[in-house]
Amino acid sequence: MAVVNSVSGPLDTADLGFTLMHEHILVQSPGVEANFHVWDRQQEIDSAVAKVKDVMARGVSTLVDLTPGEARDIPFVQEVVRRTGMQIIVATGVYFYVPPYFQSRSADHAAELFVRDIQEGIVDTGVKAGVIKCAADEAGITPHVEKALRAAARAHRATGVPISTHTHAASEVGLKQQDIFEQEGVDLGRVIIGHSGDSDDIDYLRRLIDRGSYIGMDRFGLDMILPTDKRVATIARLCQMGHAEKMVLSHDASCYFDWFDAALVRQTVPNWHYNFIPDHVIPALRQAGVSEEQIHTMTVDNPRRVFERQGAY
Ligand SMILES: [Zn+2]
Repeated sequence: MAVVNSVSGPLDTADLGFTLMHEHILVQSPGVEANFHVWDRQQEIDSAVAKVKDVMARGVSTLVDLTPGEARDIPFVQEVVRRTGMQIIVATGVYFYVPPYFQSRSADHAAELFVRDIQEGIVDTGVKAGVIKCAADEAGITPHVEKALRAAARAHRATGVPISTHTHAASEVGLKQQDIFEQEGVDLGRVIIGHSGDSDDIDYLRRLIDRGSYIGMDRFGLDMILPTDKRVATIARLCQMGHAEKMVLSHDASCYFDWFDAALVRQTVPNWHYNFIPDHVIPALRQAGVSEEQIHTMTVDNPRRVFERQGAY
């Protein structure tokens, strides 16, 4: 039996079930609430509980919350877990806006903090991180991003916990992330190159897969980046080519997201929520010729395999 750290404690990977591999419970700008007070926390917790219960009713039993370390609010997530019973795995690591604290210190120091989140727990919450988040965006591998990627790689090798990334797919930065991980001795089969589903360039996606990584088809609902029909057609094509075993599905959605006004988000990307994959995407994949077995592989088996590969090396 393999066990993964979740918010409610150790979880048998056999019990993960239908898993959304890249979501967020909340995404807030670090430091803003603590200094300006901009939200009603209890109201947002109640709202998050309702949204999580909704997706559980659709058969989803695990959410992977890839909020980077500097932006987490673990007590908020703990209350959502207590009130819903959802299995939630949270991350350590940093985003591509690498905080100045980390910019001026070594990759090994950052790696030590990530390892502490995984082995001892996140500050005084008692919650241990179960996945390592890192990111590179359109600007590519800047010196600070490179340091964060190397820190993630070293924390991964020290703990065996998988890496899951943010990318800017149009600039093919996933391949550059793989280069850094390879230099650090990482087995690319233990890495998910995230936001790959923002691209319908089969050649790019195949190059990522050919090096052994999983690809995150994980921004369903963000139609302004790539419309749903193109995201679905790309997955169907890769399934035909025999790559179902390398894809995981998700939305990158949140219950609370402070980067934009909530009403504007609802209006601009109305499908960007946890229910869109069970309600719309899975039926659309069936229509596009993806088999039940391939859907099960992408939603249940692949997440389990990602978390079952364990051990430091
Ligand atoms: Zn995300």
